[in-house]
Amino acid sequence: MLDGLDPEQREVATALTGPVCVLAGAGTGKTRAITHRIAYGVRAGILQPGSVLAVTFTNRAAGEMRGRLRQLGAGGVQARTFHSAALRQLQFFWPKAVGGDLPRLLERKVQLVAEAAARCRVRLDRNELRDVTGEIEWAKVTQTVPADYPAVVAKSLRDAPRDPAEISQIYAMYEQLKRDRSVIDFEDVLLLTVGILQDRHDIADQIRSQYQHFVVDEYQDVSPLQQRLLDLWLGDRDNLCVVGDASQTIYSFTGATPDHLLNFRTRHPGATVVKLVRDYRSTPQVVHLANGLLSQARGRAAEHRLELISQRDPGPEPTYTEYADEPTEAEGTARRIRDLVAAGVPAGEIAVLYRINAQSEVYEQALADAGVPYQLRGAERFFERQEVREAGIALRGAARAGGNDSLLDNAEDLPSQVRAVLSTKGWTGRPPAGSGAVRDRWESLAALVRLAEDFARARSGATLSDLVAELDERAAAQHAPTVQGVTLASLHAAKGLEWDAVFLVGLTEGMMPITYAKTDEQVEEERRLLYVGVTRARLHLTLSWALSRSPGGRANRRPSRFLKGLRPGSGSLGTVVGGASGSVERAVGAAGRRKPRGPVLCRVCGATLTEAGAMKLMRCEDCPSDMDEALYERLRDWRSEQARELGQPAYCVFTDKTLMAIAERVPATGGELSAISGVGARKLDRFGDDVLAICAGEAGGTGAHES
Ligand code: ATP
Ligand code: MG
Repeated sequence: MLDGLDPEQREVATALTGPVCVLAGAGTGKTRAITHRIAYGVRAGILQPGSVLAVTFTNRAAGEMRGRLRQLGAGGVQARTFHSAALRQLQFFWPKAVGGDLPRLLERKVQLVAEAAARCRVRLDRNELRDVTGEIEWAKVTQTVPADYPAVVAKSLRDAPRDPAEISQIYAMYEQLKRDRSVIDFEDVLLLTVGILQDRHDIADQIRSQYQHFVVDEYQDVSPLQQRLLDLWLGDRDNLCVVGDASQTIYSFTGATPDHLLNFRTRHPGATVVKLVRDYRSTPQVVHLANGLLSQARGRAAEHRLELISQRDPGPEPTYTEYADEPTEAEGTARRIRDLVAAGVPAGEIAVLYRINAQSEVYEQALADAGVPYQLRGAERFFERQEVREAGIALRGAARAGGNDSLLDNAEDLPSQVRAVLSTKGWTGRPPAGSGAVRDRWESLAALVRLAEDFARARSGATLSDLVAELDERAAAQHAPTVQGVTLASLHAAKGLEWDAVFLVGLTEGMMPITYAKTDEQVEEERRLLYVGVTRARLHLTLSWALSRSPGGRANRRPSRFLKGLRPGSGSLGTVVGGASGSVERAVGAAGRRKPRGPVLCRVCGATLTEAGAMKLMRCEDCPSDMDEALYERLRDWRSEQARELGQPAYCVFTDKTLMAIAERVPATGGELSAISGVGARKLDRFGDDVLAICAGEAGGTGAHES
């Protein structure tokens, strides 16, 4: 049981009594350590399976933990979310504590919040409703009652989506309506369990006699309400093991706080504190960047940061690419992804991560153009989002009315027509304050306005009807079914996941940190968000940004401040670990938007390729090849040898595609070789002599030349 653990993980696994706090960085095997701890305790006969409660924050994580425990022979242990554990206890004890059946659980609050708002004579649109609902949830998990809400908001410098006095009223009315109708909501499940445990000592004793040991994963995400429940479960005992990484706190806005993790030793003076720093997920190159990023962090979480040490073999350096404009950034990213896929990285092992969901559209389009399958995580595809569909209907209506729509009277060019139409759907010249659903909707509409601006620039004289046709075309292109596709996700939705290759895109000031992060704490949370992004990568990490929004636009954007001292050429900071490495590539943007690249075509017959094997060969499997197959084999042998010597994957030397192109053209000079796509100046310098020698029929190369 303990063999698969390193010494620190083993310490966690064998500290079976008393409070234990594991402060562990990303990818250090936190879940592995705690699942082994439980399984070891059960096997050693020290823990009774039924007396252990393991808690996490999502159903997915709880399910995964149950699976791992079962594999380790500890299937009888309860692994649940706070919510499901509380609900089970509530259902069981409700008849005894209150009498009758547990009130019905409200699936969705929004309806009732809308009714409460109407009764308070406050008009809210759908998105405002979502934001106000989010505020009520926040108030409940921070244990703020309606009357206190305005004062608490003022004190915490929180950006409320409406007048706090109004929200407080709606919140109070919502609670009243729930009581009248005998329903409870998600947060009530925790609040009521807490209430019963507090008031009924007999029931508290019964629950405590069943559960003797508690384990909490992702403890930095605990809310004050969940902490209260945990305290009540424990009573005056301290058989508690918590695991967390304060540097990955990215949900403060929902009421989560790493304070409980960081104050653990103060609350439990006898606690065993174990730090895990060996990173089993990422290469030293990725870990170096993650460490550098955190070394500039400030604030409480940063004081407790851990320097990670990679346990993996070296891999490629992270790359930093500066693009002229956003569409070029998306195209460049899609091209690199296509190269990775052609080189054998499964599409399902690649992710593009961005700050907000409205950024997805250009990437959806670029990947569709490149013939790469993709799927979105935690959001709908851009053209399927409600606000985008509604905007499409409005634009179509205006286009059909032609010049007869009075809305368009003062709008001379296409972009102003689009702005005029979308302003009836909530688009405004300036973004609404704060984050949330209203802001998300605005961002989608703003993305459509930008799309119209680009379209008008690329096609002078284009009409509203042309634009509508273009939108239809894009929606259709982006509709391709996905099987095992590249993941597109916001950084928040990427938490806890990992991929071989990660592209962090749109890293400009204003997006990372996002404009509405104003206080120092909010900016620090943005930095942690980027840290979460970086630490998702196992092997390939690409960071990029664009200097201007659209082709030919003013280059008025700056790369994210968080990359300062890390990205080459950005000046070094005294505190940066190891300093910058790698290099910034500058991708030159086309003056106008280039024609989108089509799907991968067979280089012999021109058919569209869909099979991975054919995409790798760049031709249908049965199409004749004009390539010198023997030369190709020799080049591949040479590449394997190089890769071994350099300790890098083969495709970091040259991709299959490049080797094939070489075997087809058989270059005789450095000039001819460098004309082949995939042979840049560095590669020419490093491998040119070897490759030319092999092409000339001489024996294989003599090994890597240090550059
Ligand atoms: P995050 O902070 O991102 O949630 P984590 O700390 O929970 O990460 P895990 O997901 O448990 O990390 O582990 C990361 C990877 O490292 C997993 O694939 C895990 O199996 C592997 N791993 C962890 N510990 C070891 C070990 N001692 N030996 C080999 N592999 C390990
Ligand atoms: Mg984890």
